[in-house]
Amino acid sequence: MKRLIYADNAATTKMSQAACEAMVRFQLENFANASQPYSFARNAKKALKESRQIIAGCIGANPDEIYFTSCGTESDNWVIKGVNCSTIITSPIEHHAILKPCAEVEKQGRKILYIPVNATGIVDTIALKQMVKQDSLVSVMMANNEIGTVQSINELAFIAHENGSLFHTDAVQAVGHIHINVEELGIDLLSASAHKFNGPKGIGFLYIKDGVKLNPLISGGAQELSNRAGTENVAAIVAMAIALQENIDNIDINSQWLLSLEQELLELLDNSGVSYVRNGDVRHIPGCISLSFAGFSGESILHRLDFQGICISTGSACDSKDTKISHVLKAIGLEESLAKGTIRISLGHTNTIEDVRIIAEALIKIVK
Ligand code: PLP
Repeated sequence: MKRLIYADNAATTKMSQAACEAMVRFQLENFANASQPYSFARNAKKALKESRQIIAGCIGANPDEIYFTSCGTESDNWVIKGVNCSTIITSPIEHHAILKPCAEVEKQGRKILYIPVNATGIVDTIALKQMVKQDSLVSVMMANNEIGTVQSINELAFIAHENGSLFHTDAVQAVGHIHINVEELGIDLLSASAHKFNGPKGIGFLYIKDGVKLNPLISGGAQELSNRAGTENVAAIVAMAIALQENIDNIDINSQWLLSLEQELLELLDNSGVSYVRNGDVRHIPGCISLSFAGFSGESILHRLDFQGICISTGSACDSKDTKISHVLKAIGLEESLAKGTIRISLGHTNTIEDVRIIAEALIKIVK
């Protein structure tokens, strides 16, 4: 049987064994509704509290600033639709989980402005300074999901605050992969999703700095201090906390490993003489490698790699059915023939040197 080589970790990750086992155990043994007053619900309530503490500790927040949501998309929608600012300033390389709600609130009269980005995907801070006015929301992703570029978050947050505005970051691709301290970075709101850091799908969180006002997106019961209704998915929350803590405990070692895998892959490509462009910035999510091959179709490279058991992406996972040039590649001004031949290899910490050699060999054969 063909060996599966999974190199699409920006789309989703394999669950941590410990998180998965805890989730199953919790689901079977502690399935009580955490809001119930009887003693059987005590474990669920305690687990919610402990998970909130663990997650807060992983990003330098206070536990009561963590609100559980169903995914990164919900966290992003909550911010864009729940904030009271009349102007939202964002970037053209955001995930659709930001861009689509922005387009919706724009139809309702909200002003939306887009900060230009340079060729490596870094937002233009001078342009931001000119755009930002009192009572705006600045929302810029911490790390891009297609090209991996990591922004200077503290600088962006500083500009927002200097002008009396709030700062949100979609950190879905960053949480568990790079060091984050919301306090030190000056973040008011941060979105995260468990399945991007070896936790389960269908669970995420939103960090809301103490004192920041956000209208609820989902109303009903009194869960999450009446700010996000719906019976808590305690088993998934427990697993999310375990997965995040595990990633944070190993963050430096994993980063070094991923950077060494990246280097191996690029060296093999360079030595083969194939011609390619690597997209993104030197400041990027370790293991996220966006490559463009002029005159090729990213789609066809994907299918030919798939035939050999290798999973990669042509761009954003959520866009993978769409053959249009991605909005991210357009925004960074990538030439059309390169943009069409773009693939994203996103390695995870469980990938091996052998995986990378097999990927490189297969890629070289296709391109040659
Ligand atoms: N934001 C970014 C940057 C993403 O990469 C993704 C998913 O790919 C999302 C938001 C949406 O997250 P979720 O899949 O948890 O809804």
